[in-house]
Amino acid sequence: MKRDYYEVLGVQRNSSGDEIKKAYRKLALQYHPDRNPGDSEAETKFKEAAEAYEVLSNADKRRRYDQFGHEGVRGAQGGAGFNDVNDIFSAFSDIFGGGFGGSIFEEVFGGAAGGGRRRRRSPGTPGSDLKVRMKLKLEEIATGVEKTIKIKKQVTCETCGGNGAKPGSSPTTCPQCQGSGELRQVSRSMFGQIVNVVACTNCAGEGTINTDPCGDCSGDGRVQGEKSIKVKIPAGVSEGNYLTLRSQGNSGRKGGPAGDLIVLISEEEHEKFVRDQDDIYYDLFLSYSDAVLGCEAEVPTLNGAAKVKVPAGTASGQLLRLREKGIPHLNDRGSGDEFVRVNIFVPQKLSTKEKDFMKEMSKHDAFSPKEKDHKKGFFGKVFDAFTS
Ligand SMILES: [Zn+2]
Ligand SMILES: [Zn+2]
Repeated sequence: MKRDYYEVLGVQRNSSGDEIKKAYRKLALQYHPDRNPGDSEAETKFKEAAEAYEVLSNADKRRRYDQFGHEGVRGAQGGAGFNDVNDIFSAFSDIFGGGFGGSIFEEVFGGAAGGGRRRRRSPGTPGSDLKVRMKLKLEEIATGVEKTIKIKKQVTCETCGGNGAKPGSSPTTCPQCQGSGELRQVSRSMFGQIVNVVACTNCAGEGTINTDPCGDCSGDGRVQGEKSIKVKIPAGVSEGNYLTLRSQGNSGRKGGPAGDLIVLISEEEHEKFVRDQDDIYYDLFLSYSDAVLGCEAEVPTLNGAAKVKVPAGTASGQLLRLREKGIPHLNDRGSGDEFVRVNIFVPQKLSTKEKDFMKEMSKHDAFSPKEKDHKKGFFGKVFDAFTS
């Protein structure tokens, strides 16, 4: 004899949808199998509450139930009745915000019962994630870039639409696990009861069985394919960053959800610049006379050449800063800077005539450092550069 749905949830016949939801939620948490491993009475209550909620949360079903009682809603549930585990978990996930890992779900069941956390099942097995590495030039990182990549992956079989059943037939719910794909094994140990959740052996954890498999994918629901996927890379990414493209990985088996495509960013070494976070460094080599007398030098930037004024008396190791000429900040406005590091060019090969010239120069007192010049070098000192 079925109990009255209102009685099951402990609400009045004129209760609002919200009150019904609240009542069900309380019961569902109380009697959830993960919190009551091996307790068949709790399981029965859990199912009972889910069934009552399924009916009373639906305006149409509730009206029919109010009018005709249990008879009024029996037909609507189809042959499977409400013992179908999928229905129970769909009612359950309705209320706890759908998808996996809803916060309440995590909070209450996370880690409880030795990892026997129950999730709402969708049919099939989820597809695996795919990882691809994407090499980017510093110039591309500076502006952001959209790239199209071709990847080989498992795609949904078009013949059967992914469920793996021959067109015209349909997969049947696995009788052993009733579609959940899981079997629970309860054992006792000195620490108490242990609940092991294992994949159903009858359906390999799929929840369904194909009696008449699709010929094109042999019942798998997927085939090998190739897809072109557009990937938009924002400006400012770094080596080791990755982008996750949801559901762009391998398709799931038998209509299961697709995995993700994970794009790992890798940065090509630049022939001229060294990157330090969002700043870039460029080594500028100047002749001794240019450094002493000052000059205008052309330096590369990430968006074309720029002219910088090198002041007279610029020392080796001195940095000239070009503001905002570095890499854009990924999570912030603005950009890093470009630093031009001045190096005095020292020639390695000289003719006799040139050597004589250098000897002549060294006779002049001004070209030799004095005691007071033996101070900390200019290394790392920054001057803002004037560009033109
Ligand atoms: Zn197929
Ligand atoms: Zn099964």
